Amino acid sequence: MKVLVPVKRVLDYNVKPRVKADGTGVDLSNVKMSMNPFDEIAIEEAVRLKEKGAATEVVVVTIGVAKAESDVLLTARAMGADRAILIQTDEEVEPLAVAKLLKAVAAEEQPGLIILGKQAIDDDSNQTGQMLAALLGWAQGTFASAVEIAGDRVKVTREVDGGLETVDLKLPAIVTTDLRLNEPRYATLPNIMKAKSKPLLKKTVADYGVDASPRLKTLKVVEPAKRTAGVKVADVDALVGKLKELGVAA
Ligand code: AMP
Repeated sequence: MKVLVPVKRVLDYNVKPRVKADGTGVDLSNVKMSMNPFDEIAIEEAVRLKEKGAATEVVVVTIGVAKAESDVLLTARAMGADRAILIQTDEEVEPLAVAKLLKAVAAEEQPGLIILGKQAIDDDSNQTGQMLAALLGWAQGTFASAVEIAGDRVKVTREVDGGLETVDLKLPAIVTTDLRLNEPRYATLPNIMKAKSKPLLKKTVADYGVDASPRLKTLKVVEPAKRTAGVKVADVDALVGKLKELGVAA
């Protein structure tokens, strides 16, 4: 069984986002970009399935800028993915268009399982996996904290309010990863060197005949309100007094 893992190149989670002066979006010039953390978990899970013998090949795909070839797609292959597909575009592609492109990739690659991150940390959409499942007509197990393949089915344990839910899906299926699914391995330097010779296929959005034009218009992006400085109080009585003043204690 082939496993397809879509990965997104996002602003590194350690970088404090700066909003562009004209308020049209986050400034991505000269900042560190990395693989979306939930997608690292997706690759780790796919590689573990291959190591256990449940998968035969792990293919990663990204829709994004050319630079992805030498960072996120290289990291993905160094972590254990067998080959990579870059669908190159300099435009921002919304989740619906990403899902349509991934549907086209799935038609070509015929994976038995597609593992995505539950959300990309830049836009926090949490939409692509669900939309892809709908477009393909496949079952989906979202927010997975455990994945177990048994024959032509996959058991997915999901983190839901107040506990864990286990669903049993027929393959091919869609899984989206939650934080506790696994701890991704590091891409070591020797593996990064070796990954350079693993195959990479370069495509464009036009190759798939998908209309990736935006459907949404961003009206404005603003930075969160600055926190005002706190006040030190001498003791508990002073604290309760302050809280009463603010109307948060009776
Ligand atoms: P989102 O719906 O944008 O929060 O993204 C959820 C997941 O969809 C991500 O964790 C990735 O697995 C996948 N994804 C989103 N955007 C892209 C992209 N541009 N290229 C490849 N995969 C993507």
